[in-house]
Amino acid sequence: MKKTPDEVWQSIFEEHRVAITNSCWCSQCRHSVTITDYKVKAERGALMLEGKCQICGSKVVRVVD
Ligand SMILES: [Zn+2]
Repeated sequence: MKKTPDEVWQSIFEEHRVAITNSCWCSQCRHSVTITDYKVKAERGALMLEGKCQICGSKVVRVVD
C-alpha cells in the first residue's frame, strides 16, 4: 500500500523534521523562519510542506530534502 504524504513525513526522524520546519525561507521576512499550520503534500515525487511563517503569517512552502 502506498504511503500518504503525511505518513512519509511522520516516518522521517523527528530531529530532521524539526530542522526542516525551523529552516523555512520567508520571502516577506527575508530570512529563515519556522513554518506553522503546515500541510504535507507530494509534488512530482518530492515531499513539500505548505504553511505559514510563524513571524508574519505569509505563505511559506518548503521542499523536504
Ligand atoms: Zn515571514
